[in-house]
Amino acid sequence: MLTQIDCLAKSRQAFERACHSLVGGVNSPVRAYKAVGCVPITVRSGCGAQVTDIDGYTYIDYVASYGPLILGHAPASVVTAISQAAANSMSFGMPTLAETLLAERVCDAVDSIDLVRFVNSGTEAVMSAIRLARGATGHTKVIKCAGCYHGHSDALLVEAGSGATTLGVPSSAGVPAQIVSTTLLVPFNDLEAVETALQEHDDVAAMVVEPIAGNMGCVPPREGYLQGLRDICNRHQVILIFDEVMTGFRVAYGGAQALYGVEADLTCLGKVLGGGLPCAAYGGREKLMQLVAPQGPVYQAGTLSGNPLAMAAGLATLDALNDGRAYEQLETSSRRLEHGLVQAASKVAVPVQVARVGSMLCCFFTGKPVINYEQATQCDTQAFAVFFRAMLEQGLILPPSQFESWFVSTAHDADIIDRTINAAASAFEAVDAAS
Ligand code: PMP
Repeated sequence: MLTQIDCLAKSRQAFERACHSLVGGVNSPVRAYKAVGCVPITVRSGCGAQVTDIDGYTYIDYVASYGPLILGHAPASVVTAISQAAANSMSFGMPTLAETLLAERVCDAVDSIDLVRFVNSGTEAVMSAIRLARGATGHTKVIKCAGCYHGHSDALLVEAGSGATTLGVPSSAGVPAQIVSTTLLVPFNDLEAVETALQEHDDVAAMVVEPIAGNMGCVPPREGYLQGLRDICNRHQVILIFDEVMTGFRVAYGGAQALYGVEADLTCLGKVLGGGLPCAAYGGREKLMQLVAPQGPVYQAGTLSGNPLAMAAGLATLDALNDGRAYEQLETSSRRLEHGLVQAASKVAVPVQVARVGSMLCCFFTGKPVINYEQATQCDTQAFAVFFRAMLEQGLILPPSQFESWFVSTAHDADIIDRTINAAASAFEAVDAAS
């Protein structure tokens, strides 16, 4: 019997063609499906919780553009807002009212943000926040957790070491060793390692962390971890940067900070903030942010920053999220999915850990709870690949790596969730059969 994967003739051709003009056939590495051993699906359109590929197959989507699409694909209010903004021109390089409106929303949503600066990507937001932290403290080093991803700026492309505190080594060619030697690595969820790093190094400007680690699957902070970081950073006068590019407006309207009740000095936002258009931001208390140009000596700029289309998409998205019901609905659907997956996995002899915070979720193929990168890397990635392909054959697209979070949107209704759970039950059986 031909499976759906075998039938993807147009996607296969499209990918082969793409490889002649786009490096690796893609514009971001994970899209090439290297970890799951099949041809990447070339998509044509999306609507709600589903996408349609160029072969005409429709899939339930848990990629959600890696997080931005919290309302699903092409929500009418966001599409209208973008169209209306576009009719007034795509870009000005001059102030617009929409920038202030979105900035006000951000300041209202995140308690620790008095002032904000919009940029175009999460990478840019974190890179700029670190520059600001260095400018404010006069210190150079940055502490980062192994397995957290903060974009692809040089200082943050650092490979994990397995020791308690390791000095960074580049995890990409082209990154100078001198640059990552200013990055100190600690395990996620380990306060002692941060304390040790700060006792051993006196020129630390900042600690940067994903408050919920979403780039090694979905790894929640242990109880007290974020508050512990807050206390340690206060004691050592180190700037605490929460990279909420993924979690901001995702796990709660006020992000992980609101959920766990811990404030950062600087916060990076992205993804949901731009409603699917390129947009990100960094912000914090007035005293710190006033150091950014043109007010202060820390330079940072952007031709398309605060782009009117992105502002319009962000405003329309935040409008829909701030109606009081969206996060309840996301929680209900995501909990249903979590329980369904746990139950389906329990019926076969496949060890699985389902980790979830709000509408971020991950199925780890391991028997032990995952609290850091070292444990995440113990997962059975082959089992994940079998699971991924079995889901794809049943019309579900998951992020194509064990180390990515799945995203539930407000368009994932009970029927979509139940179809997902039924498909997962068969996919777990496929993993069981293959093991
Ligand atoms: N920080 C986090 C937590 C992210 O998840 C990402 C992207 N996945 C980034 C930063 C980088 O954002 P971008 O891809 O927009 O540069």
